[in-house]
Amino acid sequence: MKLIILDRDGVINEDSDAFIKSPDEWIPIPGSIDAIARLTSAGYTIVVATNQSGIGRGLFDITTLNAIHQKMLDTVKAAGGAIPAIMFCPHLPTDDCDCRKPRPGMFLTIGERFDAELKGIPAIGDSLRDLQAALLAGCTPYLVLTGKGRQTLEKGGLPPGTVVFDNLAAVAEHLIEKDQQAVSVELAQTISEPIEKTPVSGAVGKTVPKAKAKAAAKAKLASLTEKNAKTTGRKEKNEKR
Ligand SMILES: [Mg+2]
Repeated sequence: MKLIILDRDGVINEDSDAFIKSPDEWIPIPGSIDAIARLTSAGYTIVVATNQSGIGRGLFDITTLNAIHQKMLDTVKAAGGAIPAIMFCPHLPTDDCDCRKPRPGMFLTIGERFDAELKGIPAIGDSLRDLQAALLAGCTPYLVLTGKGRQTLEKGGLPPGTVVFDNLAAVAEHLIEKDQQAVSVELAQTISEPIEKTPVSGAVGKTVPKAKAKAAAKAKLASLTEKNAKTTGRKEKNEKR
């Protein structure tokens, strides 16, 4: 499963220091809905993990939050995308819960529910606490410069391995491109091997099972592209400074 975990405010929709308290206040960031649709088409399972302390503060209730999320889901669906799950933490910072980011509780629950290994899963956010929660859960932290992202970058102290992109659209483009490169290298390796794999009639062929060769190519490539992603991330981060 290709899982990806997104923060909501400042990543999918415009953030507000006054909180998003109604469906009307939920306004998508340009390009973000299309990015979710593209990731959906590319086979990603997109899950949202969002701190919503506005509930604990009494600024809005669960019914309103559900209405906000229905608007988000409808907007995503109309663009051809899907968000199969939304996790939210309703608590106050003083509640000392395990789910409020920077704690990784929501991420760990996502891993359990989807029976997915979280190691290396892209987790996208605009605040330091998103990146910290991602790292604690074993995900790869991605900082986007929408919402509070620029402030977060300027403050520094990003978790090791954080990669930085302008926005969710740029993250989607990067991930989809990386997947396509992986497929073409895998194909190239498969094509370059058929001669030694064809057993001579009557002889005991020393064949490498195709699936095994493909898996080896895929694993090798995954480690390579991972390195590339980190390098690219660092480069982009430096350029932004
Ligand atoms: Mg945010």
